[in-house]
Amino acid sequence: MSDKKIQILTEVCVGCGLCVKACPFAAITIENMKAVIDYDKCNLCGACVEPCKFNAIELKTLERKYDHAAYKDVWIFCEQKKSAVQSVSYELLGEGRKLASKLGCKLCAVLLGEDVKKSVDELYHRGADVVYLVDSPHLKYYQDDPYSKVLIELVREFKPEILLCGATTIGRSLISRVAVKINTGLTADCTGLDIDEKEKLLLQTRPAFGGNIMATIITPNHRPQMSTVRHKVMQEAPLDTARKGTLIEKSYSDEILSTRTNLIDIVEEMEETVNLAEADIIVSGGRGVGGPENFGIIRELALVLGGAVGASRSAVDADWIPYSHQVGQTGKTVCPKIYIACGISGQIQHLIGMQSAKIIVAINKDPDAPIFKVATYGIVDDLFKVVPALTKKFKQALGK
Ligand code: FAD
Repeated sequence: MSDKKIQILTEVCVGCGLCVKACPFAAITIENMKAVIDYDKCNLCGACVEPCKFNAIELKTLERKYDHAAYKDVWIFCEQKKSAVQSVSYELLGEGRKLASKLGCKLCAVLLGEDVKKSVDELYHRGADVVYLVDSPHLKYYQDDPYSKVLIELVREFKPEILLCGATTIGRSLISRVAVKINTGLTADCTGLDIDEKEKLLLQTRPAFGGNIMATIITPNHRPQMSTVRHKVMQEAPLDTARKGTLIEKSYSDEILSTRTNLIDIVEEMEETVNLAEADIIVSGGRGVGGPENFGIIRELALVLGGAVGASRSAVDADWIPYSHQVGQTGKTVCPKIYIACGISGQIQHLIGMQSAKIIVAINKDPDAPIFKVATYGIVDDLFKVVPALTKKFKQALGK
């Protein structure tokens, strides 16, 4: 997929091995006194080129295959479930509006499903200038084949410059298939987006190397520029009921709408409390909770507050609570009004998922726990004393 090509100029290579040492991917070996590149391992980084004293390695950037001018507009894939547009789509429309304004182009929503036309006005109200709609019984439930084939058809016909999608289970499954088929790059799980106003490129920021650095990734040579964006990181687009837009309705052949899989059933997780990603209040437990049976006190506090139960990865890895409750880099990103962290140390991978909460309350018996650096209120004490006491107080205060 790369527009680069690397080769050893065997007539000048002396087999000195400097390139072997320089290659971070162990992609070069010396055979018969000549360097040989293993193209399966090489990622065309070019680290071997400069160390070669004999100019025996040639790295060429091939001519761009894309007519960039033909690609325009910012597209948001709007996820729906049971015909209702999901809130992650409104967050993407909010961010997409800023990008479209910087590029001076249109913001477009893509809506696939059955009986979803009723949501079109709301997409205009949330900032879409154009809505691409494909309404078909074949698209009632998300399935990889028809959804990806329809989106590919739309992209090929209308050529968006940028295509964004939620980093949800559906978004992750869909958009990677689309990116591969249309031969472009994809930056997954972004937490920040912006436009390089000089180059007109999408700046796609996401945590890298275990969350220790934030990497900004660009897609200079291929179109569209594609990213998935984490839920609850960006603000929802405000509602403006006076806004209007243009509807482009498309329909596709049975061949495009066909699927190789049979949908047998959809099993919804039974949530005792409210959905984590949508919750205004989250009470989360970590390793300090000590065992699955002790999560009862966390649930009780969450229930009294009308909130959801979260967890650190340690608690999930220990099988104390299902993965769907995990907050953090490899779990959910949440942005509640109040986040109560109980027995959670506050490692960076956990903080990434919750640090944008408006109020963070940390309960930890270690006064040096890193969670206190991000906490609005800190309680240094045993959670088994503090959490039941809070539950009791809130029950009284809320008359429950
Ligand atoms: P610990 O770090 O062990 O902390 C337990 C805390 O409980 C301590 O601070 C202790 O003082 C306190 N405590 C103990 N008993 C009590 C008590 N009775 N009362 C009050 N306080 C008490 N982690 C995540 O959470 N989410 C992720 O998505 C995630 N993704 C990761 C991805 C990668 C690639 C890697 C390498 C790690 C990831 N982690 C993630 C793991 C992360 O690095 C930490 O290991 C994890 O967050 C620690 O969980 P914890 O705070 O519950 O446990």
